[in-house]
Amino acid sequence: GVKPKESKVDVLIVGAGPAGLMAAAWMAHCGISARIVEKRNTKIFTGQADGLNSRTIEIFDSLGFSDRVWKESNHMQEICMWNPNAEGVIHRSDRIPDTVVGISRYQQCVLNQSRIERWFIDNIKKYSSQNNNNAISVERGILPESLVIDESNVEDDEAYPVTVALRTLTEEEATPVQAATASKSAASDGLFRSNLVQDDDEADLLRKSQSRPGTKEIVHAKYVIGCDGARSWTRRALGLELEGEATDYIWGVMDIIPITDFPDIRHRCAVHSAENGSLMVIPRENRLVRLYIQLKEVVPDASGRADRSKITPDLIFRAAQKILAPYKLDYEYCDWWTAYQIGQRVGNSYDVHNRVFLAGDAVHTHSPKAGQGMNVSMQDTFNLGWKVALVLKGICKREILATYQSERRRIAQDLIEFDHKFSRLFSGRPAKDLMDAEGIDMEEFKRAFMRGNMFASGMQVDYGPSDLVVKSGNWRELGDRSEKSAKLLTKAKIADDKFAKKQALATGIPVGKRLASVKVVSQADARPWHLQERLKSDGRFRIVLFAGKILSPQQKARVDRFCAKLDAPESFLRRITPADKAIDSVIDILTIHASPRKDTELLRDFPDILHPFDQHLGWDYTKVYADDVSYHEGFGNAYKNYGVDKEKGCVVVLRPDHYVAWVGDIDDFEDMESYFEGCMRLPAVSAAQDVGIVVETVSS
Ligand code: FAD
Repeated sequence: GVKPKESKVDVLIVGAGPAGLMAAAWMAHCGISARIVEKRNTKIFTGQADGLNSRTIEIFDSLGFSDRVWKESNHMQEICMWNPNAEGVIHRSDRIPDTVVGISRYQQCVLNQSRIERWFIDNIKKYSSQNNNNAISVERGILPESLVIDESNVEDDEAYPVTVALRTLTEEEATPVQAATASKSAASDGLFRSNLVQDDDEADLLRKSQSRPGTKEIVHAKYVIGCDGARSWTRRALGLELEGEATDYIWGVMDIIPITDFPDIRHRCAVHSAENGSLMVIPRENRLVRLYIQLKEVVPDASGRADRSKITPDLIFRAAQKILAPYKLDYEYCDWWTAYQIGQRVGNSYDVHNRVFLAGDAVHTHSPKAGQGMNVSMQDTFNLGWKVALVLKGICKREILATYQSERRRIAQDLIEFDHKFSRLFSGRPAKDLMDAEGIDMEEFKRAFMRGNMFASGMQVDYGPSDLVVKSGNWRELGDRSEKSAKLLTKAKIADDKFAKKQALATGIPVGKRLASVKVVSQADARPWHLQERLKSDGRFRIVLFAGKILSPQQKARVDRFCAKLDAPESFLRRITPADKAIDSVIDILTIHASPRKDTELLRDFPDILHPFDQHLGWDYTKVYADDVSYHEGFGNAYKNYGVDKEKGCVVVLRPDHYVAWVGDIDDFEDMESYFEGCMRLPAVSAAQDVGIVVETVSS
């Protein structure tokens, strides 16, 4: 036959769902050579996931397309709880805010997954064309057929240790087969991607296409990211597994334009009927409403799988009508429907040799009710992508890749634990009275819902100590475990005390969590900004210098000393910045001071390194901000909200994904430097000077 084409790529991404697209977005924004292959020949058009949590929208903003989401989506404001009254008739028992008030400048939104995929594709194209000669676009109708890791090469930075054979499918092979629809409108169904379906499987497709010559390609990759969904081929190729169990609950999902007298159809609702099961109402864009309905009639067989042929839109809809009775519910238009068997599983491992990674549904599955599938999947690769990119660029040490699993697997476990509790409360029958031990206590459900909303916002993510996050360890657990830990314990306690002192400098900036946003005012032009708007996802670490009252001579002397160290030829900043690149190309420095803006002068009061000069472009006016009032958008009270002392200030290091990495005192330069020593591949001091990495500073 024809010898297959061979090629090399830094990163190969398998699967172009939300997780794969987020991974590709990082590569595009960081200028990394990458390919993304997808077995389907078309993108999805309707249905699938729809909930976007606050953190996800913040991430979209950092990539540059949150405005499109914000305009087009439906914004969730309130959740109504409906329960049976004493007569067993459903009534509204409570209203709570949908997004926990004050946790983000964005609230939960809902929008079709296909729109989100569209924006990703546009964004990836734009940034990859800008940052690299080869624009990254989704290569469709392509299926990987083998994956081999050369174990002798996995620690070699120059090597391409992963070999993947790809096969191009025919048009017909790459088009999903639709189940026959008996619904009122010819809605497309999502069963082909559902866990209830076993056909159209990779093995089958490969068997069919192997007869055709010349459609194969051998790709040598430095890294592979498997984002190929719940039935992940990559996961199976690696011999990894999901652990956990499927529950018996089967859920139907329908996107319809409802015709109803149910008063809360434009609110998110959790409805528990007395005897007919539960339903979730999600009001959507374009008059659509999504209904999640528990299907009591469909019971899994002995093998744990339900009979898919029994599931029709009419069956799902009849169940919904029963739950909402005595209110009437009908529809003329159905946009999409699917059915789901809820399984809660998490991958036993997220990577092999930190060369091949799994992300998204490929490593965790759970029910759709908390609206977390798409969010957590994208947040997985938002965590991983920059790490891979910075290791490839030689900026970060390969060791940091281990933090992907340590940080994200815990999130998936928490999610599954939460989902487990929540599913039980949601799917159970409401208690008739206090003595009804079998039933679900509706107050408990409400409390779980409120806690769930905090969890579901994505704001509770709190990464543990590692090379990338400097905080105290969990020494209490250590202490419980063994006798020989006495020494460790003492050490850990000292570290703990030291950390507590540092954290006290910025009580509102917890290390390990994402930096919350407040408004600050640009020193150069008085424009108010949300600080998060200045944290673009461009692969740069950031130092946020809370310079305090810069007009106080004593404080200014401290800031000057700090900046002199930063600016010195042997500083980590100078060493890590390539000679031909701008001084802010690897680490960006933002300053927020606490003196009155009108009395302060950018060029007079701040050392050059805080607003660097470029021969061709002049001073940088985008880096220094005042914690002061703005003309039109009020006062952000940054120091107060962040719990930072206005006299003393402090310094905060942010990772490229905006999680807080380190907090310390302005005089604590060496400790901050050791953070960068820990995670970056800093050239040795003398070597840096010998090879002339030192960039001339232009003095004003
Ligand atoms: P996916 O979105 O599954 O993307 C995986 C991609 O990889 C797909 O495009 C697939 O075609 C491709 N692929 C698979 N195998 C290969 C291969 N061998 N080679 C190349 N490409 C491959 N979440 C909610 O929050 N609400 C919902 O209502 C909801 N409904 C859902 C309905 C269905 C039927 C399904 C399957 C999921 C639903 N989810 C829902 C979950 C949500 O869609 C997922 O959590 C989310 O899409 C996960 O993103 P992902 O990128 O990890 O995986």
